Amino acid sequence: MTKKTVFLDMDNVIANFDGALAAVIWDPPEMFVPGFFRNLKVMPGAKEGVQALLNNPKLNVYIGTKHTTATDYSPSEKVGWVREHFPKLLKKMCIVTDKLLLRGDYLIDDDLRWKDFDGHFIHFDKTKPEEEWQRIAKYFENNKDLLSPQEKAEVAYQSIQNTLKANDLLCSMGVCSHKEHQE
Ligand SMILES: [Mg+2]
Repeated sequence: MTKKTVFLDMDNVIANFDGALAAVIWDPPEMFVPGFFRNLKVMPGAKEGVQALLNNPKLNVYIGTKHTTATDYSPSEKVGWVREHFPKLLKKMCIVTDKLLLRGDYLIDDDLRWKDFDGHFIHFDKTKPEEEWQRIAKYFENNKDLLSPQEKAEVAYQSIQNTLKANDLLCSMGVCSHKEHQE
């Protein structure tokens, strides 16, 4: 089975970056203080949401995070944070300065700078994280793109069968669209 690769952003998707700020501004002063990234809280809903993706046998889940180049400690603090909160993703961290270099099927991110990701970009609305994580878990649960060619053929076959059954039912009620029944 070919698995689909999903990248998860860290800040404001699994780590509550904005929740640790006095004011939500671009490049807030707090993020340049040692310990900031290491001590972020987990985003509400992220534990359950990430676990749902990890449980999906059709997905290969990675972290795709941009580190801050203005300080040296952001990458190591992010690694320490993932080790504590999402240890299953520790060996699946891609720390980059440009997420457009990531190659995969999906990127879940709150930052529209990465909307041209070379796959499917899923925008995460950081203002309602719990709802977003539920939406994402459901999206992957019901996503037909994750099916194998054989599974897609089975779904198509079942759909044709259902249409035929519906037509037979209509014919038995005298409301018939089948040519053979009209003659
Ligand atoms: Mg982010």
